Amino acid sequence: MNSDIAEMNLEQGATEILEFARWNGKPECPRCESESVRQVKSKSGGRNKRFLWRCHSCKKQFTVRIGSELENCKISALKLINAIIECKNAFQAYKLLGISYMSALFLFDRIREPRMMITLKAMCKQGMIKKAGHRSFINIA
Ligand SMILES: [Zn+2]
Repeated sequence: MNSDIAEMNLEQGATEILEFARWNGKPECPRCESESVRQVKSKSGGRNKRFLWRCHSCKKQFTVRIGSELENCKISALKLINAIIECKNAFQAYKLLGISYMSALFLFDRIREPRMMITLKAMCKQGMIKKAGHRSFINIA
């Protein structure tokens, strides 16, 4: 498996954890709240590179971040979840994840209170999200 694909799989796993934390298995359109939505697929039949969803009701596309506290957050889902699991503050995230200090501050500003982040932290606490191996691979246990 080449490293791009491995990276993509990690990011997909992390994105699916965000999706679970936000929607609890029932994805809905952030614009019209319809539950008639589906994942946009790539040509090879896997998930689209940007992990897009499409709403059948309003015909718009969206991601798990749209309409959430992460809407303008450019940090990868993988780094984001690792930051939640391992870092107590922005400085640690900056050191550990190799993101800029500004990005780390932005991230910690976002994950302090909001509901989706509280759900993610609870999932970590309950052991639903685990670290495995030296690459901080994460999954839903
Ligand atoms: Zn919609």
